[in-house]
Amino acid sequence: MNPIIAELLLVIFLTIVGALAGSWVAGQHGLVFMAVSIPLLFFLRQFWQIQRLIRWTTAPLGTPTPSASGAWCAVFEALEWRGRRSSQVREQATLELERFRRAAEALPEGVMILDGNRTIEWMNLHAEACLGLKVSTDIGARITHLIREPEFIDYLDKVNQNVAPLELRTGRNPGRALLIQLASFAAGRTLLLVRDVTQLQKLATMRRDFVANVSHELKTPLTVTIGFVETAIDALGDASREEIAGYLAAAAEQARRMQHLIEDLLTLSSLETDAPPPFEEPVQLAGLLMEVKREAENLSQGAHRIVLETDSDEPPVLLGSMRELRSAFANLAGNAVRYSPPGATITLRWAADSRGGGGFSVTDSGIGIAAEHIPRLTERFYRVDRGRSRDAGGTGLGLAIVKHVLERHQATLDIVSEPGKGSCFSAAFPPHRIQAGNFS
Ligand code: ADP
Repeated sequence: MNPIIAELLLVIFLTIVGALAGSWVAGQHGLVFMAVSIPLLFFLRQFWQIQRLIRWTTAPLGTPTPSASGAWCAVFEALEWRGRRSSQVREQATLELERFRRAAEALPEGVMILDGNRTIEWMNLHAEACLGLKVSTDIGARITHLIREPEFIDYLDKVNQNVAPLELRTGRNPGRALLIQLASFAAGRTLLLVRDVTQLQKLATMRRDFVANVSHELKTPLTVTIGFVETAIDALGDASREEIAGYLAAAAEQARRMQHLIEDLLTLSSLETDAPPPFEEPVQLAGLLMEVKREAENLSQGAHRIVLETDSDEPPVLLGSMRELRSAFANLAGNAVRYSPPGATITLRWAADSRGGGGFSVTDSGIGIAAEHIPRLTERFYRVDRGRSRDAGGTGLGLAIVKHVLERHQATLDIVSEPGKGSCFSAAFPPHRIQAGNFS
């Protein structure tokens, strides 16, 4: 039954019983006294309960609800249930908020919330790092007081105009290229997204430079080829067969250079895009080293002394890609031949290291390389002396290929060189790529 109705019925019942008892004890006066005093007592009890309720509502959160009976018991129970429920809802909301905050922190992009006055309300760590700001001091500051670049301020004015993202370089974080995007949302607030695109821009520049380099590298031999072919055509009537053959041979030589360049480009491209070599392919180093030595001797045509040294009679097995390793080792040996004067000694060497790994090195007594060039040698098309490289039949891609192959085998390249004295290029392989092997 409804507790109010139950309480009302109880009062009526008590009043009737009390009045009857009063009339039985003290006649009419007793009846009137009881009929008035019982509802009055009940009425006063209500004030007392209201007083307890007020005291409870002003008490600290978590104070237990007062105990009561009858309708007030139902009131206090309902209040207690509501209190419990709202603290559950609050806890849930705090949890959700925390989850949302963590998700926003984990975003790979910088996120910032600006209010209608462009004051920073919140930002994640990426935004802090990209824009060179500090969460501890800059929250609550106006973004336009911190990032003052005019193009940024203009861009903020265009928040509702659906404009393309802004590329920005800010003095607060020099050297970083940023991409800023804005989106307005509830109550005039603006969401500012910031992404660090320095690396992407570098890649785009590298790609542009690469295309320009390739075109340039192909253009020169192509022009020379056309020149020789045209000269041969012009000379058809009056030049000797030998002269014409000479022009055509020179044209063929240039064509071969272009072919070599394209082969290197294809190798480089497959090294960049193909899956890394499997660990399963066992490469017999003994055979590979002999092959590389033979190739170097072929290139040298007897002009150099080429020596192969191994620290044991049974060089180990290298786990990796035979094709890639041969290309890297042959490139190093080929460079030693091409950049060493006739009569120079070139040593190809395999030796184990103390960690259980091993290394292949090529030492020459050639022209050597000045220290400032060494860090850039593995860049595509980087040459110390462009003319000399071209005369030596180089494409400028050899060491870039070596670097990629070694990276794919978790190996490192070390270059030690001194101008006029010679160079040593060493590739060090980690222990997990080496297995005991036998000379066959
Ligand atoms: P290239 O086809 O021009 O030889 P690489 O990438 O193989 O291209 O080498 C880059 C540059 O490094 C070469 O142009 C040359 O200047 C220098 N270089 C490489 N190996 C040697 C070496 N053994 N001795 C001297 N210079 C070298």
